[in-house]
Amino acid sequence: MIYPCVDRRESPIVDGWIAADGPSIVGIGAEPCPHAGAATEIDARGMVVLPGLVNLHHHFFQSLTRAVPLGFCEWSLGWLGSMYPLWQELDAEAMHAGASVAAAELLLTGATTSADFAYLYPGGHAELLDVEVQAVRALGLRLHAVRGCTPLLEGEIERQIAAIPGGRDIRLVESREEILAASERAIAKFHDTSRYAMCRVGLGPTAIPLADPDLLQALARLATQAGCGRHVHLQPRPTEVDRCLALNGCRPTEYLRRAGWLGEGSWIAHATMHDAEDIRVLAETGSGVAHCLSQNMRLGYPVGPIPAMRDAGVRVGIGVDGASSNDGGSMLAELRLVLLVHRLAGLQPNYTPDRWLTAQDVLWMATRDAAAVLGRDDIGRLEAGCAADLVLVDLRQVGYAGGLHDPLTTLLATGDSTVVDTTIVNGEVAVRGGRLVRGSESRIVEDANRASARMVERAHRRTGMGFGSMAPRLASLVGSDGDETSRQISRQTPRDRA
Ligand code: ZN
Repeated sequence: MIYPCVDRRESPIVDGWIAADGPSIVGIGAEPCPHAGAATEIDARGMVVLPGLVNLHHHFFQSLTRAVPLGFCEWSLGWLGSMYPLWQELDAEAMHAGASVAAAELLLTGATTSADFAYLYPGGHAELLDVEVQAVRALGLRLHAVRGCTPLLEGEIERQIAAIPGGRDIRLVESREEILAASERAIAKFHDTSRYAMCRVGLGPTAIPLADPDLLQALARLATQAGCGRHVHLQPRPTEVDRCLALNGCRPTEYLRRAGWLGEGSWIAHATMHDAEDIRVLAETGSGVAHCLSQNMRLGYPVGPIPAMRDAGVRVGIGVDGASSNDGGSMLAELRLVLLVHRLAGLQPNYTPDRWLTAQDVLWMATRDAAAVLGRDDIGRLEAGCAADLVLVDLRQVGYAGGLHDPLTTLLATGDSTVVDTTIVNGEVAVRGGRLVRGSESRIVEDANRASARMVERAHRRTGMGFGSMAPRLASLVGSDGDETSRQISRQTPRDRA
């Protein structure tokens, strides 16, 4: 059962084939397959076959600080104030461990491409991006590495951190010169403009410098010259909107447009509080939005006006966001939320059942639409000439049983696990039989738990904060006794494949 995502009116191919040669698809159709004698054949009977999903927003390093008790029940600024003292301890070992967790979880749950907004370089350690790219490359995930930056800390956070004993010991904010130099370096080293590229670079500040349009303009110029994406968080609190109005005479979205930030290749994370005028600006400029529903719920934001944006012609894709504010990183789980949550009474004006998102809408958001947001026409659909990025999900599981009426809706609305059977990126198998092919899951789990505990211990020594974390006590106790343990951890329902 193949869902090519080529034509909105298409029917799935019930009994079909896909042929790939190297990184690309060379044919797709209904049986019989004319490509006999392929070097490798994958039997997808009983499976749903989708284009690889595209995750538009993440912070890979946050995988080591998910579900930390301190800050778990806080608005965003309180949560950030709890997390930054921990994130100050981010180093190369932690970045490698966190990026490996994120890439592995995405591959296991159906993503073949991910943007990662890597905005934090504690102590000015710009090489953390190199470590991330290396870790992701090893597991076989296609990466849009957004060389983000932190030109300022939001709200009162800078003052809060400065007031913590040891809070000033590790610098989080980068200077304009550091940001521009590191951005140029990232482009020169990692930005691949070729078709089927496995790594491209984007640029952007984590928080909009409302009083410094020069930085935005300089980054936008750099990105445009190199053909890079431009990415930023935008879900301004009313006080930030007021400040932008006072400083610049316009709302933040318009401020971004005037700074030359919006347009093709630009996408913003969240857009939870956009009004009709903001939406018009996004649509007019061809800008995209990463819809990160788990983050919205976890941090108590409103749910963004996604149906209104789509109606207005804004490209909307889906992001799992960083694992400190999701706190998971499952792509398929995020799609299920998007399918269902907007239907809640009172969330969306005039969102009557005839306008509700369907499973096909959500699949397209996470494939075709997300690829367009990233400025790519070589991923997001199953068609000759596109990258061989495929995801296979085995419907022969109890959680899907009785749901063959519409396999795509069944896939997104049911199931007791979001781990897929097979993930293929650029023609290379990255997940087979629900297991990583190019990395050891048990090693990833061990490394992550050890690095996470070390961050807590160091941050505690420096600041006296405990974070409510049991990680230092549990890391050595949980450990790993081989891949069986990681299988139990990474899946909700291990299944007998004999
Ligand atoms: Zn984010």
